Amino acid sequence: MKITDVRWTPAFIPIESPLRYAFGAHPGFSRIIIEVQTDEGLVGLGECYGGASREGQLAEMRPLLIGEDPMQLERIRWKLAAPSSLKLFGHVLGFAGLEFACLDLQGQILGKPVCEIIGGKFRDEIDFSAYLFYRYANDDGKGEISNQDQMVAFAKEVVKKYGFETLKYKNGVMPPDEEIETFIALRKAFPSLRIRLDPNAAWSVTTAVRVARKLHDHDVEYLEDPVWGMRAMARVNAKAPWITLASNMSVFAFEDLVPNAVMNILDVVLLDPHWYGGVTRARLAGQLCEAMGVDVGMHSGAEFGISQAAMLHLAASLPNLIAAPDSHYHHLADDVIAGGKLKFVGGKMKVPTGPGLGVKLDRDKLSKYHELSKKRAMGSWIEDPHRPGSITYQPKW
Ligand code: MG
Repeated sequence: MKITDVRWTPAFIPIESPLRYAFGAHPGFSRIIIEVQTDEGLVGLGECYGGASREGQLAEMRPLLIGEDPMQLERIRWKLAAPSSLKLFGHVLGFAGLEFACLDLQGQILGKPVCEIIGGKFRDEIDFSAYLFYRYANDDGKGEISNQDQMVAFAKEVVKKYGFETLKYKNGVMPPDEEIETFIALRKAFPSLRIRLDPNAAWSVTTAVRVARKLHDHDVEYLEDPVWGMRAMARVNAKAPWITLASNMSVFAFEDLVPNAVMNILDVVLLDPHWYGGVTRARLAGQLCEAMGVDVGMHSGAEFGISQAAMLHLAASLPNLIAAPDSHYHHLADDVIAGGKLKFVGGKMKVPTGPGLGVKLDRDKLSKYHELSKKRAMGSWIEDPHRPGSITYQPKW
C-alpha cells in the first residue's frame, strides 16, 4: 500500500468564553485536520495544532510522505522526523499529525483499534481532569470567571455535568496570593477530589516555594510548571521537597527524560502525543519513564476529536499513567467528527473500539468550521485583548 496524497484543512471551533492563561487568552481553538490518502482508497485521519507555521511544516513533509507505505512507520519517522532534524527544524507538531493518520491507516488495514497496535489496551476508559480557567465574558456578556466565587461555581457546574474527579486550576493570571486563596476555596468545596495547579512557569522560584509552603496542608495533587527550565524546577524541588512536581514545559521531549531522572527534578512527566512526535513515541517515552521510576500524566493542547482519540489510545496503553489526563475538550462548543462530541460519563471517556483511531469526519461540520477559521484563524500564542503585549509578557511574581 502506498500513500498517494496528503491534504489538510484548518478549522476553528468556538468555546463558551475566552480562556485566560499566563501567555494570553483563547477565544476558541484552531486546529488542522489532516487526511492521508492511499492507493487502495483508504483515508487516515490526523490532527495537529493550528497556525500558518504548522501548515508550512505539512507542506514541507508532504512530498516526503507520498509514495511511502503507512505500515512502515519507523522508516517514515526517520525520513521525515529523525531526532536531529526534528530538533533543528521543529517539525514535531506537524509530524505528529501525520503519524496519527498513519496509525489510523494501520488500524483500518488490520481491523484493530490503535491501542491494540501499539501494545494493547490496559484500560477501557480514561479518567479526565476538568480544566478550570479564569475567563473573560463572551460577546453576550456571560461566562466571566475572575474571582474565587466564580471559579468554585464553575468547578461545581462541570463536576455536576461531567462527573470529573480531578480538577486542574490554571494559574499565572491573578496575583499568587489570590490564587492560593482560590485553591484553598476549591479544596474546601471538593474535599475528596484531586486538585492540581499550573501557572505555566509564570512564577519565580521564590514565589513557587512560597505557594508550595502555603498549600502544604491543602492536599495538592501536583504543582505543574511553577517555573521555567529544569534548573529552576530543580531549585523548587530542593526547597519544597514535599510537593509533587509535574511538567509539560521544562520536560517535554525525549531527550529531556534522562536528565530529568538523573537529576531528580520532577515526579510526573506530562506526555503529549503531539509534543513527543506521535502516539508511538509518546508511549515509548512513557515506558522510559516507567523504567526510571517517573510517573506520567498527560498534557492537553485544546484538541478536537481526532487528537482526543489519539490521546485516548495512548492513555489506554500506558500502565504508569497515574494522573487523569488534562482536557480542554469540555470547553469546545462542537466537534468535526461524525456523531458529535465524544462524551464524558462519570469524568471518563471510553477508548474508541473501531479500527484505527475509531473516529470519522463530519464533512459538513469540517467545512463550517473551516469557513470560521478564515475569519478567526490563530496560531498557538494568542494575545490577551485586555493585556496588550501578553504574548511576550509573562508575569514573574
Ligand atoms: Mg502545562
